[in-house]
Amino acid sequence: MKSEHADTVENRLRFDREHIWHPYTSAVSPLPCFYVESAEGVYLNLAGGRRVIDGMSSWWAAIHGYSHPRLNEAAAMQLTKMSHVMFGGLTHEPAINLAEKLVELSPDTLEHVFFCDSGSVAVEVAMKMALQYFHAKGKTGKRKFATVRSGYHGDTWHAMSVCDPVTGMHSIFEGVLPEQFFADAPKTDVNGKWDESDMSGVVKIFEKHHSEIAAFIVEPIVQGAGGMRFYHPKFLRRLRMLCNSYGILLIADEIATGFGRTGTMFACDRAYVIPDIMCVGKALTGGYMTLAATLATRDVAFTVSSAAPYVFMHGPTFMGNPLACAIACASLDLLTAGNCLDKVAKIEKQLSKELEEARNIDSVADVRTLGAIGVIEMKENVNLEKIQPAFVKNGIWIRPFGKLIYTMPPYIITPDELGALTKGILEVVKTV
Ligand SMILES: *Cc1c(COP(=O)(O)O)cnc(C)c1O
Repeated sequence: MKSEHADTVENRLRFDREHIWHPYTSAVSPLPCFYVESAEGVYLNLAGGRRVIDGMSSWWAAIHGYSHPRLNEAAAMQLTKMSHVMFGGLTHEPAINLAEKLVELSPDTLEHVFFCDSGSVAVEVAMKMALQYFHAKGKTGKRKFATVRSGYHGDTWHAMSVCDPVTGMHSIFEGVLPEQFFADAPKTDVNGKWDESDMSGVVKIFEKHHSEIAAFIVEPIVQGAGGMRFYHPKFLRRLRMLCNSYGILLIADEIATGFGRTGTMFACDRAYVIPDIMCVGKALTGGYMTLAATLATRDVAFTVSSAAPYVFMHGPTFMGNPLACAIACASLDLLTAGNCLDKVAKIEKQLSKELEEARNIDSVADVRTLGAIGVIEMKENVNLEKIQPAFVKNGIWIRPFGKLIYTMPPYIITPDELGALTKGILEVVKTV
């Protein structure tokens, strides 16, 4: 007979399989899920007593690890005051403090903060801002967007329209999804020798279509979910100049790269580029709650507000949620007080040294690291059904997609824990 507890977990897992959609899954034949009971530090505690080191930071978010005393305290304190109030006509300390910190941390001229619920919504907001900007300027022909291939900007409608057309499955939505302009993704590696021909696609599109384009949206330096590619900062510098000369706004999607992940506070900082609009999310609350923000320059904010309807047309119900904002403030305090960028630099060193061994494995096509991100690109797509349990057996949580086995651990990970993580990855990769 099974213990009552195991039976309960089993029943819940069965209900989950039969009724709950997980990200990108089938309702008919979903892959099994692992049941998490709690999480602390870098560890996820799974049902049955197994614990695994989280190599994913819950998709870039849990940068300080789980159940961090300072973040717990911030949440508990805020709960005693209020967890939520509407943001229309009301304001509060957590939102004001957070906006102040974001304006301070972000590239210089980004001074206006729009709070929203998730990364995808932050992208929608950025795109709407760009359209309203040119509408206010009377340039109503500028209603499209340009971007690069291999990008990822979220799953909502317009965010999806600027995701890579192939991996973003645009074919399914053909005819209804707005069609945007796609330049080839930059090829020069982040540390490689800059090749000016990386700009040719953008130049061609701008020359021909600049009067139709409101903004260029791009993930700075790291293309995340669209392929985990690291490209040269000069691409961003050139792009900034081209946007200026063609009268096109630059939107930086820092949702994955923001808050130190790539080794600088924002990935734009590596290129000394200031976008007109910047989206942040994911790590903003240290992974505690969903919260995102869209930052804009004074020019964007004031221009949007200078013509009818004289307001920016967006206002989510849970905008500026006090609980999320209070936790985000505590998370940003940890980030700035706790020499996190040094920690990221140390993680980068250890990751690149220890993952290097993968280069000698036959099934591996490439190994690359940047900041606290390590990527092993395989020659073939990995079999998730087989590889996921193998990682768990090795005491680590790694969630590959396609050919990519990658990790972006919490910044608090110790050298020993990181060593166990890379060892666990390499052992599994060797068996592929
Ligand atoms: C995850 C991500 C998004 C979407 O954020 P959600 O919170 O999942 O809606 C957008 N852009 C980038 C670069 C991301 O990594």
